[in-house]
Amino acid sequence: MITTKLRLDLALDKEIKKSLIEELPYSLNSKLEITFDGPSIFIHSENKISQKEALISIQGIVNKTSSEQELLSRHDTNTELVGEDPFPKLVSNDEIKETGEGQFIYSGDFLLVFEALEKRLKHYCQLQDSIEQKYPTLIRSSELINAGYLKSFPQHAYLSSHFSVSKEVLESLESLEPDSIIDKNTLDNPSYVLAPTVCYHCFSHLKGNTLNNSAFSSLNKCHRHEMQYQKLSRLSTYWMRELMYFGDQNFVQDGLDDALEFTKQFLKNLNIPFEVVVASDPFFGNAQKKVPYQKIFRLKIEIITEVYGGEKIAIASFNNHQTSLIESYNISINSETQGFSGCIGWGFERILHAIYSRYGHEINSWPKELKQTLDL
Ligand SMILES: [Zn+2]
Repeated sequence: MITTKLRLDLALDKEIKKSLIEELPYSLNSKLEITFDGPSIFIHSENKISQKEALISIQGIVNKTSSEQELLSRHDTNTELVGEDPFPKLVSNDEIKETGEGQFIYSGDFLLVFEALEKRLKHYCQLQDSIEQKYPTLIRSSELINAGYLKSFPQHAYLSSHFSVSKEVLESLESLEPDSIIDKNTLDNPSYVLAPTVCYHCFSHLKGNTLNNSAFSSLNKCHRHEMQYQKLSRLSTYWMRELMYFGDQNFVQDGLDDALEFTKQFLKNLNIPFEVVVASDPFFGNAQKKVPYQKIFRLKIEIITEVYGGEKIAIASFNNHQTSLIESYNISINSETQGFSGCIGWGFERILHAIYSRYGHEINSWPKELKQTLDL
C-alpha cells in the first residue's frame, strides 16, 4: 500500500469526509482507503496516485459545499466610524485629485500617510528576507492567457494597444478633436495588459527558473476595469505592495501565516476593527467552479473592515496558489516535495480609507498612538 498525504489546512466536516470516502475512489479510478488526521487527508492505494489529480478530484467533490463566507476571527475596537465623509475634504484640500474614473493623484498629508504605510510594510517584507524589486506597468497578454488570468477575470482586464502602424491611420489622427472618441479600428491587437496584480511581474521574471525557497516583494500600481468605481475602495488604478513566496508547501504557508499575524497586529495597533474571512476571487463564467475549491482549501484569506458609509472592504489578502502558477510559468523549486507559491497583497488606498474612516481627514488631530504606529 502506498500512502499519499495531502494537507488540507481545514477541519473537514462530517459530510465532506463522508463524500470524500465514498466518491474519491471512483473519481480516481482506483481502489482506495481514506483516513483523516486533523487538517490532513491520507489516501492509501495499491498504485501511486498523482497529487495533482487527487486535488482536482477533491475539488470536484467539495464543489457542492456552501458558498458562505467563513469567519475565522474578529477584532473589535472602541473606535467608531467618523460622522463626516473624509473624502470630499481630502479632495478640497487637494490631497486627492481625480484625473479619471477611479484614478487619483495624491499629495500633501495624504501622501505622507501613504508613504508612512509603505515604510512600515516594506520594513516587514525586508525582515522576511525578501528580494525587493521594481516592476514595469505592462505585461504581455500571452503571459496572462497562459496564467489563466484573462480566462478567469476577463471582466477586469485593461488591455493596452497602440495605433496601427499604417500611414493612412496615422494621418487620420490629424483630425482628432479634444472630444473625439478613438476609433477601435485604428488600433493594433492589444499584445499587452496593464498589470492586474504585482505578482504576475514576479512570475514573469522567474519564468523557467529553478529556485530554492525564496521571497520577493514590490510596491506597484495595479489596474482593474470595474463597471462602477467607488472613491477609495474601488479604483481603476491602485497601489498594492505584494510579498511573494516560492518554495515547498510549508515555507509558503508559513510565510502567509506570518504575514496574516503581522497584519492583524498592525491593525490592532492602529485600533481598527477587522474580520478575518475565507474569501474567493471574483471569477467569471466557467471559472466560478473554482470558488468552492478555493474556499474549502482556504486558499484565499482576507482581512475586511468597515469604512465610512458602512461598506465592508478587503484591505489585505493572503493567497495560496498551490502549484497552479509555478506550473503555468514553468518554475521549478529545489525541494523534496512539490513546489508552491503564494502572495500577500496590501491595498494602500483601502488601508488608508480604513484609517481615515475612523480618524477623519485632519491628521493633526489623530491620536498620538496612531501617529506613533505609523511613525508620522
Ligand atoms: Zn498576487
